[in-house]
Amino acid sequence: MELSIKKLTKTYPNGVRALQGVDLTIPPGMFGLLGPNGAGKSSLMRTIATLQDPDAGSIRFGDIDVLTQKAELRKLLGYLPQEFGLYPNLSAEAVLEHFAVLKGITVRRERHAQVAALLEQTNLAAVRKKAVGGFSGGMKQRLGIAIALLGRPRLVIVDEPTAGLDPTERHRFLNLLGEIGDDVVVILSTHIVEDVAELCPNFAIIAGGRVLYTGAPEAVTATLRGKLWRRVSTRAELPDLQRRLKVISTRLITGRPVVHVHHEGSPGPDFEPVEPSLEDVYFHHVAQAQAEPAARPA
Ligand code: ADP
Repeated sequence: MELSIKKLTKTYPNGVRALQGVDLTIPPGMFGLLGPNGAGKSSLMRTIATLQDPDAGSIRFGDIDVLTQKAELRKLLGYLPQEFGLYPNLSAEAVLEHFAVLKGITVRRERHAQVAALLEQTNLAAVRKKAVGGFSGGMKQRLGIAIALLGRPRLVIVDEPTAGLDPTERHRFLNLLGEIGDDVVVILSTHIVEDVAELCPNFAIIAGGRVLYTGAPEAVTATLRGKLWRRVSTRAELPDLQRRLKVISTRLITGRPVVHVHHEGSPGPDFEPVEPSLEDVYFHHVAQAQAEPAARPA
């Protein structure tokens, strides 16, 4: 089943235009939704998860009209929000049992089997009797995904799940997402480019409530090939470079700023060509959107 989002708009009562005509088609498998803070990712996720209504637009998941058939969608949905609370004194197993009942898994044997399988899958079986109040950030996120996977959802939405995780836990969590299955639509929202590069055959870049790009990571990096140049700079000359050229990123490498510049042909004798990464593409699109907001269609 495919998720199809058309012309979705949302303006909050305070006047913030969080979604400004979002069009996206999301096939089964991992889909990365990449954007800076404030891009509109959570607004979009909450709308897909039927937790808030848009002002206009449509969302379909297979045959389901998400905005009018909320109960149907919820039966197929697993949602891991950015922040979620857990009763600290309950054990991981009790938490999962509790949510399984809420999900409508009323047959006890089936419920126990699913809870046990998910505890194994998320590597929490050994701590299943421990109170979740003592869990680390990574363990809480793994429990969160176990909750989201109860009831075998067809659409899984995880909102910035890797923020704040250490590298080991981050990899463990991403591997877990990667194993959910090719026939499930899994939407991973993140501001971390590597999350997408490592895991997602399809992705979109979103900023300012608009989709700036959608497609496969390899296809988008190809669009920058031959137009990306690199040079070791100095702090003193950086402002001048930024004024004269389209600097899309500056990174300190062993204390010295290394700039990546977008340019048709070499921008100067000290520059060398560089193979574009997804991070370059991301910075390029986001910088362009910020530079010329009025030029983009509303
Ligand atoms: P992201 O998840 O990409 O960080 P959000 O969807 O949370 O983006 O936010 C998009 C914009 O909408 C931001 O400017 C944010 O401040 C604003 N926003 C989000 N939720 C609300 C709300 N409930 N009321 C008013 N403004 C909101």
